[in-house]
Amino acid sequence: MAGQRTVGIGMGPSNLALAIALVERSASQECGEWTFLERNETVQWHSNMLLKGSRLQISFLKDLVTLRNPTSFYTFINYLKCRGRLDYFINRGTFNASRDEFTDYLNWVHGNLPDHLSQMSRTVQQVEPVYGSDGEVAELEVIYADRDGNEYRLRTDNLVVAVGGMPVIPGVFHNQLDENIFHSSNFLSHIEKYKNHQGPLRIGVVGSGQSAVEIIHYLNDHFPNSQIHSIFRKAAYKPADNSPFVNEVFFPSMTGFMYGLADDNKRREVLSEYWQTNYAAVELDLLESLYEKLYADRVSGVQHIHIHSYTTIEGVHALDKGYRLVLSNVLSGDSDTMELDAIILATGYERTMLPPFMDKIIPNIQMDNGRLSIARDYTLQMTSSFKPRIYVQGMSQLTHGISDSLLSVLAVRSQEILESILCGQSHGQEASLSEEVLI
Ligand SMILES: Cc1cc2nc3c(=O)[nH]c(=O)nc-3n(C[C@H](O)[C@H](O)[C@H](O)COP(=O)(O)OP(=O)(O)OC[C@H]3O[C@@H](n4cnc5c(N)ncnc54)[C@H](O)[C@@H]3O)c2cc1C
Repeated sequence: MAGQRTVGIGMGPSNLALAIALVERSASQECGEWTFLERNETVQWHSNMLLKGSRLQISFLKDLVTLRNPTSFYTFINYLKCRGRLDYFINRGTFNASRDEFTDYLNWVHGNLPDHLSQMSRTVQQVEPVYGSDGEVAELEVIYADRDGNEYRLRTDNLVVAVGGMPVIPGVFHNQLDENIFHSSNFLSHIEKYKNHQGPLRIGVVGSGQSAVEIIHYLNDHFPNSQIHSIFRKAAYKPADNSPFVNEVFFPSMTGFMYGLADDNKRREVLSEYWQTNYAAVELDLLESLYEKLYADRVSGVQHIHIHSYTTIEGVHALDKGYRLVLSNVLSGDSDTMELDAIILATGYERTMLPPFMDKIIPNIQMDNGRLSIARDYTLQMTSSFKPRIYVQGMSQLTHGISDSLLSVLAVRSQEILESILCGQSHGQEASLSEEVLI
């Protein structure tokens, strides 16, 4: 391992968990040179959806380390102790932390990692193959820039890509995005401009998942005179299934089960069984309070929230003031139109494609049934003349299970990736991963 270099791209929860595993292992073993690059100045956790009162959707015990090493310095419980809030947190009698508090935890973790491990305000722009004299790809060059546009280059043997998902923009909105039509990942920064808006706003919210409903609540609270139009294809908002038997799908041990299934069709079957634990599903209490708001409007006789279920958007046309949407009912085929001042796309994230900065690497990646071939240890499977190893975090839901993009598996996955890097074996020879790795 001596002399091996590793670069992590992104300093969100996935690579923070890996940095913890690294620091803990470094106490007893030489782990090579590591650098994590993050485009933000501080650790941010979906900051544009950090809405007041929003909560972590899983137990605080599924932090970055507890499931792997409950005695770690970096547990959420130790964070609470260090912040002087442990008594108060316990007294609340709940497993739910607020998203604000979880973001503070992530920054506390980052602040307690060695300074030299990460470089903040560094945006990776390109990853390029570097060829050896034998014509094989011997290493990778990571090209990144700071805030002032100064460019830097770093050579590495291993790369860990953990940059989160890319916003999904429905086809009808391609080339239509502007300051009034935007994805939920830009929500808080874009909605800011309406703070001093005169008169009632007409706002469309596309989608029926957790973010859509959180946004509807926010708009109704902050713009009480606005008309909010919730537009989605399904019959109704559906609650997330948090029941205990179903919730076992989030156990880290499920990763091995999913990966071990015979083929992608079997994996798709399992995923579709559990889809409603995480997708287009909303926390029940949020739905109940939304229903109360609608009912209060019925009592007062002034409706502010309008639900358009079974509805698809066929066209978007800019007007002198606002936009006209052409709508279609998926059951009857009937058409309708609606005029809006702003449209928010709570339409989720895509997590199967590599980010554009990996474009020059793509020709070297092996494909499997039209998708990236990703081994059990999260390495991309490369052509035989490609020596560096590239790990991906959060891009392998189909093969590694529904927790892949969530916090539930981070503590254990980070250990699996670290083990694989330290083993330093070549492609195709996967590390024999124990399903329970405690250090
Ligand atoms: C609103 C919202 C709420 C969520 N709530 C929960 C929840 O309650 N529970 C749960 O389990 N999951 C939740 N999730 C799922 C979420 O994916 C995970 O919680 C977690 O954020 C995954 O961590 P990550 O590090 O893989 O990705 P991210 O958190 O997306 O972090 C990626 C990091 O990479 C950085 N980056 C991107 N591109 C570059 C570049 N070119 N150069 C340098 N840095 C770059 C980004 O700035 C970011 O810091 C939520 C997701 C959203 C959108």
